[in-house]
Amino acid sequence: MIVGYPFSAVVGHDDLKLALLLNAVSPAIGGVLVRGEKGTAKSTVVRSLAALLPEVAVVAGCRFSCDPAAPDPSCPDGPHESGLSPQTRPARLVELPVGASEDRVAGSLDLERALTEGVKAFEPGLLAAAHRGVLYVDEVNLLHDHLVDLLLDAAAMGVAHVEREGVSVRHAARFLLVGTMNPEEGELRPQLLDRFGLAVEVRASRDPAERAEVVRRRLAFDADPAGYTGAYAAGERDLAQRIAAARERLPAVTLPDDALRGITAVCAAFDVEGMRADLVMARAAVALAAWEGRDEVTPGDVRTAARLALPHRRRRDPFDDPGQGLDEERLEQALSEALSPDDDSGDDAPDDGPDDDGPGGGGAPGGEPADAPPGEGGGTGGRRPESPGAPYRTRLLAPEAVGRGGPAGRRGRTTGESGRAAGARTPDGRLRRLDLPATLAAAAPHQRGRGRTGSGLVLRREDLREALREGRESNLVLFCVDASGSMAARTRMRAVKGAVLSLLLDAYQRRDKVGLVTFRGEEATVALPPTSSVELASGRLARLATGGRTPLAAGLRRAERVLAAERLRDPRRRPLLVVVTDGRHTSGPDPVITARRLAEVASVVVDCEHGPVRLGLAGRLAAALGGTAIRLEELAADHLAAVVRDVRKVA
Ligand SMILES: [Zn+2]
Repeated sequence: MIVGYPFSAVVGHDDLKLALLLNAVSPAIGGVLVRGEKGTAKSTVVRSLAALLPEVAVVAGCRFSCDPAAPDPSCPDGPHESGLSPQTRPARLVELPVGASEDRVAGSLDLERALTEGVKAFEPGLLAAAHRGVLYVDEVNLLHDHLVDLLLDAAAMGVAHVEREGVSVRHAARFLLVGTMNPEEGELRPQLLDRFGLAVEVRASRDPAERAEVVRRRLAFDADPAGYTGAYAAGERDLAQRIAAARERLPAVTLPDDALRGITAVCAAFDVEGMRADLVMARAAVALAAWEGRDEVTPGDVRTAARLALPHRRRRDPFDDPGQGLDEERLEQALSEALSPDDDSGDDAPDDGPDDDGPGGGGAPGGEPADAPPGEGGGTGGRRPESPGAPYRTRLLAPEAVGRGGPAGRRGRTTGESGRAAGARTPDGRLRRLDLPATLAAAAPHQRGRGRTGSGLVLRREDLREALREGRESNLVLFCVDASGSMAARTRMRAVKGAVLSLLLDAYQRRDKVGLVTFRGEEATVALPPTSSVELASGRLARLATGGRTPLAAGLRRAERVLAAERLRDPRRRPLLVVVTDGRHTSGPDPVITARRLAEVASVVVDCEHGPVRLGLAGRLAAALGGTAIRLEELAADHLAAVVRDVRKVA
């Protein structure tokens, strides 16, 4: 048996440890998302939790961990007789590998039994194994989309529903969801983000003494795991007992009205969506009181609960760093207002506003810098970055889907003959690609009915299944942005950044890869190599230096090279080039020649020219690119959504 690192030996990481412990006390909180750079021992801490969890009483022989006190009525191993002697086993921490197959996660049909015995036997998957325990996903931000969907369904309903190869099975799957991720590698889908009750940011300590202690303990553990663990056994036992005691105390803990008002006031002040945040905060505050051996929630509990429950759910510009902590001042203000007795429940929190998930709402991060002088910002150096204008919902920019079925839904999924297997179906015409397991599974239950006696399978036409495959129609959106003096007029650059941020947001929601090339002075630079982390992209954009001359051709050439490299690296992605420019060039060769070489690539020119006299250079550039020009102002307007479809080219 592998000896795990003891929880009580972990140095620092106080928020993370507290978040895990609170969930251990009250699994209804809904789990923890742990964000942090590599090498911060996130996984070690998470894995060490398992040893502290109370044992679980289960029905003997049930592979779905039914609770003897309340067995799952739909348990595939059931029905269970009442009065069976229960069995206890240690709580499980089940790891879900990001590349796992759907069968492995959701479970699968035992084909052998189906074929030989004619019964539908279900082989439980990881969701079943994690029932009443912890489901841990390391690098959860890299989880395949189809697994995210499975996970969301199970987490939302507490039930895993598996339909596969003609079998339908339903079983309870309630687990503590814990995910770790390195945000530099990309963000989570918002729906999944919302599923995590608490979120904590971890970073390695900057304190040399603490770092030394971490190293010392790790070396000691590696040298003699069993001996080291033994030294912490008493500490581990204490923690486990404290969790068990807090669990027992939990139902008796009361949440006074003023504490509840504090919770709702804080949630309103931070403009969180829906009611989940309020509930999670309430549960966390109650669990914290129980953990500390109290029977009543205090304002301090509410404060701590807010710090753990809100950072990842406050409504914000998606380009804010989701890892950044809460605005403490705002938290204190909301709390003190709610907790002061003579307060007339002052309803000064912003209203829900439109109920979409658009970025329009919630405080713009940069605010409106009114202190800026109105003049032109960028002479030569011009390194003061402009804070971007608030992003707005833009039109969809997407190249034409290449697969069959077109761009279905936001994620641009298509089904067709290539891509990963995505189930089977009855063919609607001539059978093209037989799915043998699905066909056998369809035939198996009817063998007796069809009077099979010998060894051959009685197969009928209606048993035939064809494999359905699903591929992602993913895009690469490469921005090529003029950052020269001609664009640097303060308000203009703000508008440009706002537009690019909005386009980035669109790409983010579609899970596209995004890259950024900028040009100014004499040269073009790849400000951001193609990445899935929009956070990274927006950060680079916000810090973008501006000013100098305008080497438009150099910018396009750079974009051409980036696209060529990406075509080799990831040929399935369809490129879309977005050139943000007023069309002028004041250094280097004529951009039109380079532009013609890019005519193969779908492109859009965002025309930033303004003023009474217009040269129409951006339009000329767009013509050379074989793309379309859109005026910057038009980009914000919803009614133009249709225009972009004309921009698309079939790859
Ligand atoms: Zn059962």
